[in-house]
Amino acid sequence: MNSVSFKAKNISPSITLNLSAMAAKLKQDGADIVSFTAGEPDFNTPNFIVEAAKIAMDKGFTRYTATAGILPLREAICTKLKKDNNLDYTPSQIVVSNGAKHSLYNAFAAILNDGDEVLVPSPYWLTYPEVIKINGGIPKIIDLCTEKDFKLTPKILESAISKKTKAIILNNPSNPSGIVYTKSELEALCAEIEKAGIYLVSDEIYEKLIYDNIEYYSPAQFSNKLKNKTILINGLSKSHAMTGWRMGYSASNIELADAMVNIQSHVTSNPNTIAQYAALEALTNLQGDKFLADLKEVFAARRDYLCSFLDKANIKYVRPNGAFYVMVDVSPYFNKTIASVAISSAADFSCALVEKAKLVTIPLEDFGASNYIRLSYCLKDNEIEKGVNRLKEFIKFSH
Ligand code: PMP
Repeated sequence: MNSVSFKAKNISPSITLNLSAMAAKLKQDGADIVSFTAGEPDFNTPNFIVEAAKIAMDKGFTRYTATAGILPLREAICTKLKKDNNLDYTPSQIVVSNGAKHSLYNAFAAILNDGDEVLVPSPYWLTYPEVIKINGGIPKIIDLCTEKDFKLTPKILESAISKKTKAIILNNPSNPSGIVYTKSELEALCAEIEKAGIYLVSDEIYEKLIYDNIEYYSPAQFSNKLKNKTILINGLSKSHAMTGWRMGYSASNIELADAMVNIQSHVTSNPNTIAQYAALEALTNLQGDKFLADLKEVFAARRDYLCSFLDKANIKYVRPNGAFYVMVDVSPYFNKTIASVAISSAADFSCALVEKAKLVTIPLEDFGASNYIRLSYCLKDNEIEKGVNRLKEFIKFSH
């Protein structure tokens, strides 16, 4: 009787946060740990944004705001969506929340009835199935691990859709694979989504981190009909090094926006007022563009640096075009022994890597990619080099 709910029992803990905590603890205890686990830029929030928060506090902007966020911030988000994505939204279609994660929660709470199915292409960010389950939905994984470039095609999508399908989630660029759809791939996929008449939850949090001169497209750009069924999710965590401020937002049709505001009003009310003023500055101050350009350049160089080390070490991986992660294929080590440890899964590999080589990575079983581990390159070049050398040394002992 006195037990947590079935719903709570049905939710898996976030392994990435657990592993990051484990890395931090080992570091604190004095171990010389290299951690490839971070899901956030290793930069401080730019000063001009921090200053805006201080000014907001000095001006007394310390009270509740409208649940959906202050109007100037929602206007600035509309301006951003027009400028970057050629999308027309009005402020009443924007809901600002406590991080994109919260926006995702609102989105699924707004569209799902118990038993509705949501298509989740794998590999996926591990929160998706859980946030769908929390909201009564059933995640239907579309396994793309054996498909070319891990990409969803209209044909695969068509065969995955059933009468119960209510929505699909797309994450472009993807965490953890770093793949980015080309314009024609995305356009064809979006036409199929539109044809199916389902909702599209489009997680665009890594929009600003795309390399190799690939141009970014937001699915809602392709047709007004699909735009009307899309909940676009974005935020400032990754683009402006603002993970701790918890600033995410959604853009959708008004009916859905009103539903999400209603839900949010009873759960958290408005997102943090001071952070909203900081986000407003981030989106309207031209220094924001400069910061973004620099950030992208740093990550592109790190991607190249990490991939060249992996190439030299003959380690099999998926070359990413976006975000800040690389998936490494560890299946060649399954059913082998490394440094006296028997390896039969990515989790075994990651655990042994921490224990034997003081290198922390994320095993991707919970991301729907059980042959892989994820390396994040949110760290300095010398740490990347040190980490890959440890990985290289570690696998030398496999037999
Ligand atoms: N979507 C994806 C794919 C992510 O990787 C993350 C952060 N790891 C988020 C959403 C959540 O970001 P936020 O900090 O804005 O909640």
